[in-house]
Amino acid sequence: MTPTARAPKPECDIAIIGGGVMGLSIAYQLGKRGVSDVVILERGYLAEGASGRNGGGVRMQWSSEENILLMRESIELCRSFAQDVGINIWLRQGGYLFLARSERERAQMERNIALQNRCGVPTEMISADEARAIVPELNTTGIACAAYNPHDGVVFPWPFLWGYAREAMRSGAELHLFTDVTAIDQASSGFVLHTSKGKLRAKRVLNAAGAWSPAVARLVGVELPNRPHRHEILSTEPLKPFLKPMVSLLSSGLYFSQSMRGEIVTGISVDDVDDGSVKLGARLQFLTKLAREITSVMPRLSEVKVLRQWAGPYDVSPDGHPILGEPENIPGFYLCCGFVGHGFMMAPIIGQIYAEHLVRGTNHEVFRRCRLSRFVEGVTEPEQMILG
Ligand SMILES: Cc1cc2nc3c(=O)[nH]c(=O)nc-3n(C[C@H](O)[C@H](O)[C@H](O)COP(=O)(O)OP(=O)(O)OC[C@H]3O[C@@H](n4cnc5c(N)ncnc54)[C@H](O)[C@@H]3O)c2cc1C
Repeated sequence: MTPTARAPKPECDIAIIGGGVMGLSIAYQLGKRGVSDVVILERGYLAEGASGRNGGGVRMQWSSEENILLMRESIELCRSFAQDVGINIWLRQGGYLFLARSERERAQMERNIALQNRCGVPTEMISADEARAIVPELNTTGIACAAYNPHDGVVFPWPFLWGYAREAMRSGAELHLFTDVTAIDQASSGFVLHTSKGKLRAKRVLNAAGAWSPAVARLVGVELPNRPHRHEILSTEPLKPFLKPMVSLLSSGLYFSQSMRGEIVTGISVDDVDDGSVKLGARLQFLTKLAREITSVMPRLSEVKVLRQWAGPYDVSPDGHPILGEPENIPGFYLCCGFVGHGFMMAPIIGQIYAEHLVRGTNHEVFRRCRLSRFVEGVTEPEQMILG
């Protein structure tokens, strides 16, 4: 079963714009529920967007109850992924170790840990010395305390996409790569999508175009508040395994982990021009900022050779939470975007919840909380634990 090079069929029930992890996860879950009349339209290759460029971190350490519970379920789905989808995603639950440098960060950490514990997540507040017992190479000068949950972890992102895509196609969905959606007309019973491979009539349309979702929404006259932000990351030569958890500094958003192949994968955000366009160039400025920050906590990495550096688009919503559901004035046009730097870990659970919504009309609480209108209503509660 291969992504088709032909033109899409003329009509379908659900057209999904974007073949990233969100679009594919939803398509997979629709297939599991017997919905096969689905066409996925992807402008580039599989894993072209953020889904093919990310750090693969999956964690339950969040500042809101909803995110903690959703990620806990998502990690459970990651654990059964090989069995359910038939592909190895290389999940390694080595934990996440967050480091605090100030009393303000300690207080935030205490609040988050209390909430996580109430949600059944066993995060512990530990001292700098205890953190060094988990990562012996850590320089703990200036580290006030740390938060550690041993059940967080990392995955290898690409097999998620391969597995979801294969299973969605097996259930009857069409996947069209190198197929750009350039215009959308609203019709009496749905939409007509103009693509680089011809027209497609769809009863319903799902905008899962990640950092490009505002441009796709504009095709039906909807303005979204999410903005693209370039996020850079690199990987080094492989080293003998020495680092168990993903380590992150709250003060700068630096994060680093060691992959199953031994490479150190690490990223940090650098300021950028915000003109609404998606930028994917790699910058020296990132390398210098990252090198300074990472060698301050892991001096042994000053000798390591960088093999690859790349950028991907964060899809940043104003409060750090996704944007889901239909805008009030366009029924049948569904939004699934605004996942910032944590969409990968949300995709397994969001796919399940969204497919239920599309098939049975069930309204999981997340649809109310993540509705587009919350921004004009002024009822948003920003997530504190955004990294990068
Ligand atoms: C460097 C980096 C590190 C990250 N680290 C993590 C992490 O550790 N953990 C985590 O959970 N998340 C992480 N993220 C975030 C995560 O990758 C994203 O939230 C997630 O992949 C978003 O998936 P998506 O399907 O919404 O978007 P994407 O993967 O970007 O997919 C959208 C797709 O839509 C396509 N598209 C756009 N416009 C059109 C059009 N007009 N027609 C057809 N197709 C179109 C694009 O080509 C793209 O493939 C990271 C992101 C980056 C960039």
